[in-house]
Amino acid sequence: MRDAEPKAIRLKDYEAPALQIRQVHLAFEIQPGETTVTSTLQIERVRPGETDLRLDGQELELLDVTLDGESLSANAYQLDEDSLTLFDLPDRCEIRIVNRIHPERNTALEGLYKSGNLYCTQCEAEGFRKITYYQDRPDVLAKFSTTITAGSAYPVLLSNGNLVDQQTLNDGRRQVSWEDPYPKPSYLFALVAGDLARLEDSFTTMSGREVKLVIYSEPHNIDQCDYAMDVLKRAMRWDEQRFGREYDLDIFMIVAVEDFNMGAMENKGLNIFNTSCVLASKDTATDPSYMRVEGVVAHEYFHNWSGNRVTCRDWFQLSLKEGFTVFRDAEFSSDMNSRTVKRIEDVNFLRSVQFAEDAGPLSHPIRPDSYIEISNFYTPTVYEKGAEVIGMLHTILGEEVFRRGSDLYFERHDGEAATTDDFLAAMADASGRDLSVFQRWYVQAGTPVLAVESRWQEGTFTLILTQSCPPTPGQTEKLPVHMPVAMGLLDADGKLLDPATLQLSSDSEYDIRGDSIVLHLATASTSLRVEGLATEPVVSLLRGYSAPVRLKYPRSPEILKFLAIHDSDGFAAWDALQTLLVDEIGSYSGRRRVSETLIELFAALLEQAQAAVISGSDEDRFMLAARLSLPQESYLFEQFEQVDVDALCAGRDALQQALAAELREQWLALYQAARSVDAYQPDAAGMSRRALCNLALGFVAVALEGGELVELLEAHYSQADNLTDRRAALVAALHSTSLDSAVSRRLLQRFLDAFRNEALVVNQWFSVQAGSPTCSAQDIQTLAAHDAFDGRNPNKIRALYSAFAQANLRNFHAADGSGYQLIADTVLALNSSNPQMASALAKPLTRWRRFSGMRPGLMRQALERLAAADDLSPDVYEVVIKGLAD
Ligand code: ZN
Repeated sequence: MRDAEPKAIRLKDYEAPALQIRQVHLAFEIQPGETTVTSTLQIERVRPGETDLRLDGQELELLDVTLDGESLSANAYQLDEDSLTLFDLPDRCEIRIVNRIHPERNTALEGLYKSGNLYCTQCEAEGFRKITYYQDRPDVLAKFSTTITAGSAYPVLLSNGNLVDQQTLNDGRRQVSWEDPYPKPSYLFALVAGDLARLEDSFTTMSGREVKLVIYSEPHNIDQCDYAMDVLKRAMRWDEQRFGREYDLDIFMIVAVEDFNMGAMENKGLNIFNTSCVLASKDTATDPSYMRVEGVVAHEYFHNWSGNRVTCRDWFQLSLKEGFTVFRDAEFSSDMNSRTVKRIEDVNFLRSVQFAEDAGPLSHPIRPDSYIEISNFYTPTVYEKGAEVIGMLHTILGEEVFRRGSDLYFERHDGEAATTDDFLAAMADASGRDLSVFQRWYVQAGTPVLAVESRWQEGTFTLILTQSCPPTPGQTEKLPVHMPVAMGLLDADGKLLDPATLQLSSDSEYDIRGDSIVLHLATASTSLRVEGLATEPVVSLLRGYSAPVRLKYPRSPEILKFLAIHDSDGFAAWDALQTLLVDEIGSYSGRRRVSETLIELFAALLEQAQAAVISGSDEDRFMLAARLSLPQESYLFEQFEQVDVDALCAGRDALQQALAAELREQWLALYQAARSVDAYQPDAAGMSRRALCNLALGFVAVALEGGELVELLEAHYSQADNLTDRRAALVAALHSTSLDSAVSRRLLQRFLDAFRNEALVVNQWFSVQAGSPTCSAQDIQTLAAHDAFDGRNPNKIRALYSAFAQANLRNFHAADGSGYQLIADTVLALNSSNPQMASALAKPLTRWRRFSGMRPGLMRQALERLAAADDLSPDVYEVVIKGLAD
């Protein structure tokens, strides 16, 4: 345990500083083993108040500090472990600080650090304080200029804003100066130094300004940057057209780095990316990786307005920029590809990962009211639930009014640090709507439950909707929230009734939106009546997943099947089938055969899929692939309050085997039909076809055995001209229960031999093994000892340990507790070198309450072992303490 327990920071204690840094010049002298930082700060009083200035600083070696050119006497300042306080400052002054740092020793990857031969920074949330003493908080906005001096081994020297000077010094070193005209908080500062290759392009903005676009990477990766460049240009155009947002500097740069704790970072004018979110080529990126590159490049670019021009007042407001920006990138991806397919993927993620978080001890509102370590709050709740809340606002207001609200928000707060309440106020003012009940989405944790009942009596159909929300840590009482419930009514033939022709009535407000009714549920309970119907309708509920809730609406398998076939809302049709599948798996009791309903449904969908390969649209193929996919273990577990790991995994296996065996010929036919003869293209036609083909391969591999299976898998692998197909062959091999393991080992070896030098492909090599049903904790340890593994690289850590703890639930939850022990050991090993990675890895252990049998005890034991460790980082400490709290 730690000596001093880290203290919680509370939203209610927020206070803006009276003295603020308004301008800063940073000079970096990069030398082998150490970097010297000279920071010149212009301080101004912005309001009456204190005269002392507290600057944050951690792990810094202070060399000198002067005030208006004079050295400070020892009693004019105080230095401690994480701050430098200057006493009795005048209303205006200049402070100059010189300090030393050691990027080469920085393994936490926060502040200035080295990734391979490259120097780079990561300052969000509180990394700048590891570079120099500063008011490291988002409500202090200053103009930055930066000078970097480094040896000739680092020819490319980058920082935010526009390049204003570059020269070669007499001693051969290079010196470059950058100036960012837009005031910004320290978390958006960035610096890069290295020997980088560049891909250049340009973009003409809507007002006719020419912007230079540059993507930098290590030279051997530069041929993998074209896709990201194409995305960037599309994102820039889209943000102009859809949100009226124009880019504001003369240059926009992206740098790809190998070692990065997160996906990417929106530093002003100089985004820094994890290679996994920017590089893409047919041999190094799967189809989902291409989609991720598209989403993340757009996301970071969109932050230029939602995050940088308007930033956050404090870190409790994180969802202000993240929820909104995830909403924006999801809209972009939906406009570029299929909206319904994107929606299904997002809901799948939300229900698996965010619901799990919200149902456990780490549950928090999207605007938390306290934290110990802010790095722990870059969560699916802040991001994805935050985006859902913006999406509901969009549904409630409609596109046009929503756009007016967003314009007003940007106009009002441009150049400021704002709050989520400011955002809602702009939306309320632009729409004239009272959003006070809606605002509860920001302050209440937990996933609301929407319980629905229907009645049919003499031509009148009544739907009764009731909302509730389970208690979460620190919040026992919950108030009703405002949720838009989109629905439609289907007649006996499965035809959607035109809502404009229905005799509707309700105590609550409702709108007709296209072919749906949107009911505003803003009280604990309400009802909707429909009169004058000839026969009882079937309800298509939560169309497009209009609110992020758990739906409790008991429906018979026949009704669900009817919806799965007829519902014109792609999401709702998918959802009905998923519900059937979850019910089937949940009621598995040993040897029972799979229900006829499901076999018939799958047979029909398989027929459609085969037709779609030949004559369907890309969207048809994507949709059928989504519908024919069985729920992942993580999704499945979240559907049950008490999780019986063995029963659910056995149920899922049995269902997969039954569907594979009963429909073997159909799967084979689909597989053959969808196999490609064309060269790889990362476009919708190719991706949707591969999605069907590789889905079918998975079932075929379960149905076939012996030589036939070996031949099929080897042919699939050998004939593949891309990573997507190669990976699918490996996954199918590793999931087969009948295949001789020598065959999978052979394929894995071929894969590694061919791509040993491609880090992103090696990551896949680890993650397909870590996620396979036969991979035990012991096997993970063996893989960790492999030469190709690097325990310092976050992508490798994720590929091995996170893939195991998050996607291989049957082995993570092995009955002997070996999975928990492995993860706890790894958390301890990472605790001091990289606390952020350590705490992320510890999170799955906190879900112990949900499991039945011996598992809760074993999970708690692992957490208790962590709690007892010396020198726990605040990151891990917070997760462990909350995870153990009763
Ligand atoms: Zn973001």
